Amino acid sequence: MNRSTVKLSYLSAAVLFFLLTVHSTVAQENRPKSESTSESVVKSEEEWRGCLTPEEFRILREKGTEMAFTGKYNKHNEKGVYTCAGCGAELFSSETKYDSGSGWPSFWKPISDEKVDTETDNSLFMKRTEILCSRCGGHLGHMFEDGPRPTGLRYCVNSVSLGFEPQEVEVETVSKEKEDSK
Ligand SMILES: [Zn+2]
Repeated sequence: MNRSTVKLSYLSAAVLFFLLTVHSTVAQENRPKSESTSESVVKSEEEWRGCLTPEEFRILREKGTEMAFTGKYNKHNEKGVYTCAGCGAELFSSETKYDSGSGWPSFWKPISDEKVDTETDNSLFMKRTEILCSRCGGHLGHMFEDGPRPTGLRYCVNSVSLGFEPQEVEVETVSKEKEDSK
């Protein structure tokens, strides 16, 4: 082995080592991202204050309640998916929304039972069932047993705790209208 061959093998070993290091770093960085869709979202009080409006913070993190008949989704009848305002998890479908007359958006079931956690709430001298986003623990509202069939349940949710994603169908209708007007 002459000197240049030795140098070359040192160099290729260094390159190989570098590539391996980079590869394992990338793999480590990618892992939490791909799992984050189902993993729980944990933030400190300060972090939540930073990413929520004061009203969202009061309701989602401090279990507040918006005034009845004031929420933007109370009389909202578009087709789509209602998401958690805290973490974006898909919680309720417009298919299960109904007008309960309570003044809050009401659903007879969540998209799936795993999406919404329940807890006994004994505040205000009442025994109620609190509903929370299972992903970020955000307070959504309460569940009552006076809902319509088939579940007989009423998921009574604050509009402030929700976001909304319209269904694809809506977009198609819009583009069709545009074509028609041409
Ligand atoms: Zn959430």
